[in-house]
Amino acid sequence: MIKTDVLVIGAGPVGIFVVQQLGLIGLKAEVVDNLDKIGGQCIELYPDKPIYDIPAIPECTGESLTKNLLEQIKPFKTNFHLNERVEEISKENNNWKITTSGKKNFLAPNIIIAGGVGSFEPRKFSIKEAEKFENNGVFYSIKDKNYFKNKKVCIFGGGDSALDWAIELSKFADINLIHRREEFRGAEHSISMVKQLEKDGKIKIKTPFQIHSIEGDDKVKGITIKTEDGKIEKISTDCVLGFFGLIMKLGPIAEWGLNLEKKTIPVNTENFQTNKEGIFAIGDICTYPGKLKLILSGFHEGALAARACFKLARPNEKYRFEFTTTSKTLQERLGVKKSD
Ligand SMILES: Cc1cc2nc3c(=O)[nH]c(=O)nc-3n(C[C@H](O)[C@H](O)[C@H](O)COP(=O)(O)OP(=O)(O)OC[C@H]3O[C@@H](n4cnc5c(N)ncnc54)[C@H](O)[C@@H]3O)c2cc1C
Repeated sequence: MIKTDVLVIGAGPVGIFVVQQLGLIGLKAEVVDNLDKIGGQCIELYPDKPIYDIPAIPECTGESLTKNLLEQIKPFKTNFHLNERVEEISKENNNWKITTSGKKNFLAPNIIIAGGVGSFEPRKFSIKEAEKFENNGVFYSIKDKNYFKNKKVCIFGGGDSALDWAIELSKFADINLIHRREEFRGAEHSISMVKQLEKDGKIKIKTPFQIHSIEGDDKVKGITIKTEDGKIEKISTDCVLGFFGLIMKLGPIAEWGLNLEKKTIPVNTENFQTNKEGIFAIGDICTYPGKLKLILSGFHEGALAARACFKLARPNEKYRFEFTTTSKTLQERLGVKKSD
């Protein structure tokens, strides 16, 4: 049994940052994530994509944001329990008992759910061969764009991810962008850019087509695509990318007796507590009037939830608001070296 002040479910950007907020006020956290890596959507879905709306960071990628968030929580020496899905929670006196898929048990007065869209999975191609070639020519996310350099790439999908990656990879790869409808449904400027790249001969657009087969023995050599009325076209390719969005599976979180609203957890905006005392929800998974699914909103939500956790973890102590710039205690916790 691992005892801690706060069990954080989800190692996305919001789950990582709340560890810093907890650490600053002297609370210990353990973090559990069912993915095999830290970073949530930023790492799983868009590690290479630039983000432009993190305060005071004009531009960073999903990967560099995660790296910096981890750097910021280094002083707190936090344990991350990866490949572990939180399955069950139950009340034990003043604590919550939390059990994971790997049968790890935690005991904590507070749980912060930073579970994003839940146990999310990309929607996949329905044809059999796609499974055989998954991660060996068939991909649903891009971990390293350099892998695609000078390759023939077929990108399927009509939304922002498909369009953005077609634009990005067209700088150094041979791109076919394939969509089952005539119209794309991404941002206007991305659609215009893709059409311009087609005119410039940098991207080939094939609509309305769906995947019909993937050919190759140990690696992908080509695909066939098909229209609704049965017209089939063959394309030689090295890689097939599918961007069909995510299947939003809330997973076990839905079974914990929390109020739910369209796969999100309603919270009060004073402290981001759910309908259960000691269980908080922050980041994409929470909802309240005016909620914005942005990383910066999740950071604010985490700051307030952390202070509320203090009350339950240290019932006999009084929380004192302090600035990091001037508080010796906070600086000690951060390991800041004293200057004379
Ligand atoms: C293509 C794309 C571009 C984006 N661009 C921007 C942008 O420019 N700016 C911006 O602010 N936002 C952007 N976003 C949104 C941003 O990524 C999310 O708001 C952010 O990731 C939410 O963070 P989070 O920590 O709440 O959840 P997530 O990042 O979703 O992380 C949640 C984690 O919880 C884990 N989890 C869930 N359930 C369990 C369980 N039961 N047990 C264990 N682990 C569990 C999941 O595995 C996941 O790792 C973008 C999103 C996408 C898809």
